[in-house]
Amino acid sequence: MKTIVARILSLNDAAMAEAADIIKNGGLVALPTETVYGLGANALDEAACAKVYAVKGRPSDNPLIMHISDVAMLDSIAKNVPPMAEKLIQTFWPGPLTVILQRKNVPRGTFLDTVAVRMPKNPIALRLIDLAKTPIAAPSANLSGRPSPTTAGHVLRDLSGKIDMILDGGPCEVGLESTVIDCSGDGAPVILRPGSVTREMIEGLIGPVGMATEAAKDEAPKSPGMKYRHYAPEAKLTVVVGEAEKVRAKIQSLATDTEKIGIMATAESAYYYKHKNVLIMGDSHEAIAANLFDMLRLCDEMGLEEVFVEGVAEEGLGVAIMNRLKKAASYNILKV
Ligand code: AMP
Ligand code: MG
Repeated sequence: MKTIVARILSLNDAAMAEAADIIKNGGLVALPTETVYGLGANALDEAACAKVYAVKGRPSDNPLIMHISDVAMLDSIAKNVPPMAEKLIQTFWPGPLTVILQRKNVPRGTFLDTVAVRMPKNPIALRLIDLAKTPIAAPSANLSGRPSPTTAGHVLRDLSGKIDMILDGGPCEVGLESTVIDCSGDGAPVILRPGSVTREMIEGLIGPVGMATEAAKDEAPKSPGMKYRHYAPEAKLTVVVGEAEKVRAKIQSLATDTEKIGIMATAESAYYYKHKNVLIMGDSHEAIAANLFDMLRLCDEMGLEEVFVEGVAEEGLGVAIMNRLKKAASYNILKV
């Protein structure tokens, strides 16, 4: 199959209608969202969703998020939406917050009685859902386990020839997957995956919420996605955390081979390293989030064997950044 790549400069571009037809006919279209690129399929078409799993190599017990363009669409897939979820939806949609609700009529992930729903903010994503007239299931458009794609080029590298079309809307604004919050139970909602809608933002609106910790090896994870290794480059990754000066000194002392070893540093400390392969992550949590997956992919393109990453403070958006980094490093964390 030849994958069509269409750069979208206007929402009225003919490629938008073409993409919607592909979705309606059970095909796969990668689309930009404000978080990462998604691999879109008609969420109510079981065969189309099965293709998503096959193409990504996604474990079948890891359910998909349904993307909608209008709160009214929620009625077709979820029921008993609690008042706290209503509040979150009113405040953070469209945006990078996925809400887990009780399921209604959704064929995929039928082993669960819940469904994950989000209304993305990216206008291309919203228009595509509108034109296709169906919720679109859209997990990250990468091969399972690889860093999530934040540009159309990343999608093409992983899925060229395997999907019908890629809508290129430029680089993603946020760069990390949505925050996932479980509002399907009777108790306080629980954040299952941190993202750019932070715990502080959520608690400021609805009061205290839970935060799922990573499941221990033999424990069932709260969210199926939590048990898999994710976001990983080929290189061995070590996240170094602690006071900035000590972190730099530690990395200096460990990164002895300047050819095969890389360093992912904040803009502030990149200046201190004399190594050849210093990847500058950015100077704010927002910039680091937006660059993170691209840098992890770059590590592979540069043929690096080992990479040391400076950890960031685990507050606000830093919680989500560290969550992805820890998984990418298979929890290989060095505290100094
Ligand atoms: P992604 O691969 O970025 O689309 O990830 C979707 C995340 O949402 C994964 O961690 C899934 O396990 C999680 N998820 C989707 N549906 C549900 C659900 N009904 N209950 C709990 N977690 C879910
Ligand atoms: Mg993913």
